[in-house]
Amino acid sequence: MSLAASVSRTVAAPGSSPQLREIEDVYRAPALHWVGDGFRVAGYFSEIPDAAEKLSPFLLLDYHPPYDYLPTARPRGVGVHPHRGFETVTLAWQGSVAHHDSAGGGGVIGPGDVQWMTAASGILHKEYHEENYARRGGPFHMAQLWVNLPRQHKMAPPRYQGLRADQMGLVALPAGQVRVIAGEYQGVTGPAQTFSPIHVYDVRLEAGGSAEFSFPASYNAAVLVMSGGVSINGSRSAKQEDFILFGHSGERVTLQASSAAQLLLLAGEPIAEPIVQYGPFVMNTPQEIEQAFADYSSGKFGQLED
Ligand code: MN
Repeated sequence: MSLAASVSRTVAAPGSSPQLREIEDVYRAPALHWVGDGFRVAGYFSEIPDAAEKLSPFLLLDYHPPYDYLPTARPRGVGVHPHRGFETVTLAWQGSVAHHDSAGGGGVIGPGDVQWMTAASGILHKEYHEENYARRGGPFHMAQLWVNLPRQHKMAPPRYQGLRADQMGLVALPAGQVRVIAGEYQGVTGPAQTFSPIHVYDVRLEAGGSAEFSFPASYNAAVLVMSGGVSINGSRSAKQEDFILFGHSGERVTLQASSAAQLLLLAGEPIAEPIVQYGPFVMNTPQEIEQAFADYSSGKFGQLED
């Protein structure tokens, strides 16, 4: 397979081949729940023991599988709420979402776009279906990731990156493609600016198509199967809505599609710092959580109308 050959040439020392990465477990889709009245999601990390360590720097994955919304005059969504200490990353495949925040960030994302919102020192924001989409209704397919920030960036100024579909890194495979949203694949970089090393790929494979990836063994890594089915490392199969969590022995991951597949691949260097989370605040100590509540209550996160 030419792809595998070219990847091993770039990552392997002569005469050696990096080991396949251990598969820790394959998790089935958890029950769906509503976030506000606009997002019908499966919260994958809530099912995984020690998810905050095993998936660091990723803190949460709310996956919104394809769903047809009926037309509504008033857009569905989530009203004004705060965040501090991390980033919310919204990936759109179908439908459209509008975001506004108290730091002046805002925008609309549609199919292929990604919104990378750094709450850091604190913002208020609201997330709604975009008005025209809401009036029409129709298919909706999204995911939201929460990405932790290293201690030294938790109180940085907020930032908003609206990443358009045409800015994503594209790597063509013999039978598929990799869209690089963050990080790098085969020398192609994604547009997202991140505070720690992260790779986020949107991978499509035709039936029978394959792809190979390699990350340092110390990185956490996982794959969500959004559609289709895959064989992982030639040893384990996963189907639509399964979530594959990798362990830390070995580096290489091979995926072969048993049917046309779309996958979300996450990998990153763990942030080796304590995590203290209370709802929308993710800090390093209980005192910092108390401070977040005090700052939120006294209006330090700014103003935003509902
Ligand atoms: Mn939010």
